[in-house]
Amino acid sequence: MIRVGIVGVGKIARDQHLPAIAADPGLELAAVASRSKPDVGVPAFESLEEMLERGPALDAIALCTPPQVRRETAITALRAGKHVFLEKPPGATVGEVGDLSALAAEKNVTLFASWHSRFAAGVPTAKTWLATRKIRNVDIQWREDVRRWHPGQTWIWEAGGLGVFDPGINALSILTEIMPREVFVTDARLQVPENVQSPVAAHLTMTDIEDTPITADFDFLQTGPQTWDITVTAEDGTLRLSSGGARIEIDGQPVVQAADDEYPGLYKRFGELIRAGRSEADVRPLALVADAFLVGTRELVEAFVE
Ligand code: NAP
Repeated sequence: MIRVGIVGVGKIARDQHLPAIAADPGLELAAVASRSKPDVGVPAFESLEEMLERGPALDAIALCTPPQVRRETAITALRAGKHVFLEKPPGATVGEVGDLSALAAEKNVTLFASWHSRFAAGVPTAKTWLATRKIRNVDIQWREDVRRWHPGQTWIWEAGGLGVFDPGINALSILTEIMPREVFVTDARLQVPENVQSPVAAHLTMTDIEDTPITADFDFLQTGPQTWDITVTAEDGTLRLSSGGARIEIDGQPVVQAADDEYPGLYKRFGELIRAGRSEADVRPLALVADAFLVGTRELVEAFVE
């Protein structure tokens, strides 16, 4: 039994981590650390330090705070000899995650940089389909309503909060998983509201060593139907991953249709890594976002008011 402590009990911890841990016979939620000290049926502490000092014995820590404070808590947990599950994105910068991987190796514990969208049901099928095909182009349409999915999350708009890349990085985590070759950014256009630090919309142009055209449109102001789609056109057919990767159609025919089951898969993987004494910390999706900020042109747009 792996005894888990959660840090940062907010939307994702409540919606996904608590039920996924409860459903996994190999895991037990032992305590939480969150400034609001929420009552979730286990001892609650104001900080990770307090939980480590005064709480029950823990084997692993799941960090569900915003990315801007991920590094310091990850370092504290790793130094205490705990296995660490990082919510996405694994850090506020690409560089700090390398540092964490080195510390995990030194402490002989597992560091798992989770990318939940890679655990969507259609992703393995898409990866297999793409592996043997000549790809003509890839188009990502990732459009959601920030007011509906992220109410009150002011950290998203601050520096390091990623703005529209907070959901957009999920598409990039799928892209980097299913593409047979490394993908890189060649151009980006970022729309930044005049009163915040992060983009509300972005258009990315990417490619790979074969010059495959890859484009992504990220929009945080989509009302009505929400869109989380990746369409891959190959020489002999078209694959469409939709609903964030839960569904696949090939040439218009449904191939995979599944309910959201990403977090049980993530925790299963975390348990496997711990038992195998291994870490997994892929920073490629975060590097694509960082590169979009590096080469992107910025356009100031209307202030964002929630
Ligand atoms: P959230 O609702 O804002 O929850 C984060 C929690 O972290 C807060 O409730 C807060 O609890 C704690 N916290 C600690 N330091 C904080 C700080 N400086 N600023 C704000 N909160 C702080 O955010 P979330 O949606 O759960 O997202 C957390 C992470 O999970 C993000 O990296 C996000 O990308 C990722 N994620 C979110 C979703 C989603 O659908 N929402 C999906 C997948 C992944 P206390 O006030 O009690 O300390």
